[in-house]
Amino acid sequence: MTTSHGEVNTPVFMPVGTQATVKTLSPADLTDLGAEIILSNTYHLFLRPGHELIRSFGGVQKFMAWNRPVLTDSGGFQVFSLAELRKITEEGVTFQSPIDGGAKHLITPEYAVEIQEALGADIIMAFDECTPYPATRDYAQESHERTLRWARRCRDAKKDTGQALFGIVQGGMHPDLRKQSADALVDIGFDGYAIGGLSVGETKPVMQEMIEATVPSLPGDRPRYLMGVGTPEDLVEGVDRGIDMFDCVMPTRNARNGTFFTSFGRVVIRNAQYERDPQPIDPACGCHTCRNFTRAYLRHLFNAGEVLALRLGTIHNLFFYLDLMRNVRASIEQGGFREFKRDFFAKRESQNS
Ligand SMILES: [Zn+2]
Repeated sequence: MTTSHGEVNTPVFMPVGTQATVKTLSPADLTDLGAEIILSNTYHLFLRPGHELIRSFGGVQKFMAWNRPVLTDSGGFQVFSLAELRKITEEGVTFQSPIDGGAKHLITPEYAVEIQEALGADIIMAFDECTPYPATRDYAQESHERTLRWARRCRDAKKDTGQALFGIVQGGMHPDLRKQSADALVDIGFDGYAIGGLSVGETKPVMQEMIEATVPSLPGDRPRYLMGVGTPEDLVEGVDRGIDMFDCVMPTRNARNGTFFTSFGRVVIRNAQYERDPQPIDPACGCHTCRNFTRAYLRHLFNAGEVLALRLGTIHNLFFYLDLMRNVRASIEQGGFREFKRDFFAKRESQNS
């Protein structure tokens, strides 16, 4: 994928930098970890410090001193999940801000594009409604059709800024609605296509069924982005189904809770079994944390509430995700993804049994 801030190798995992920062890491850390693109959240930056302030600094990349690609979401997901007193109309969504004294805001598709143009990310997203789960079929249909009308308005509103605009497939947990949504978005025409509204409480088989119902409608020469997903296992399964891009707070959020992803499953570092454990989190991992620190030391840092714990944990979990995707790409280049996937799951099952 080529953007105005450089190339991105796919399939790719995008670390989440909600407030224009990947929590506990500097841009130099992200470069060391091999991150090629990060995601930032329009909703949060709109409320604080404000998109016009970020525009005045030359965009989010300059503001945060990260001179590589950035994707911003449209704010839709957060408006629906975090904001108070939201009201959806055909025009857009009205909500009350939880941080600026309860001020009321109206985000329309046009305004969501304008805000993202001010933030200046390389890839921006159409404003959508993330269909709640569970939803009735009628609601899922009504919601995805409104998202399509909003997608067209986003396309029409977008100025010639050199930013890529992606459409977002919705349709709840209904394969036929997913296909309808994808086909209609492709008719409107976007630079890339995202699958939204998954990993919201449905089972893994349902999530995979929705991906399978959608991907055949999406053109192979445009990036396909599975939003907000997921575990290492979800990433490997997603790649197998044709997904090129992923983002998720899981590696960073879990790191700050002391839960680490490894080649053999998860390590909950506060568990008593690690009290005197001289091994690194994952003996197979080459990250800074695993090369220098023991499980016993990390457990102590977490128990003592030391900030270094959050940083070392984040370095490990993000390295694990980014390294997983490096290995996935290498296996695809060598024509060995099937074997890679088989080994990946076999290692987890043997160590967890
Ligand atoms: Zn590590």
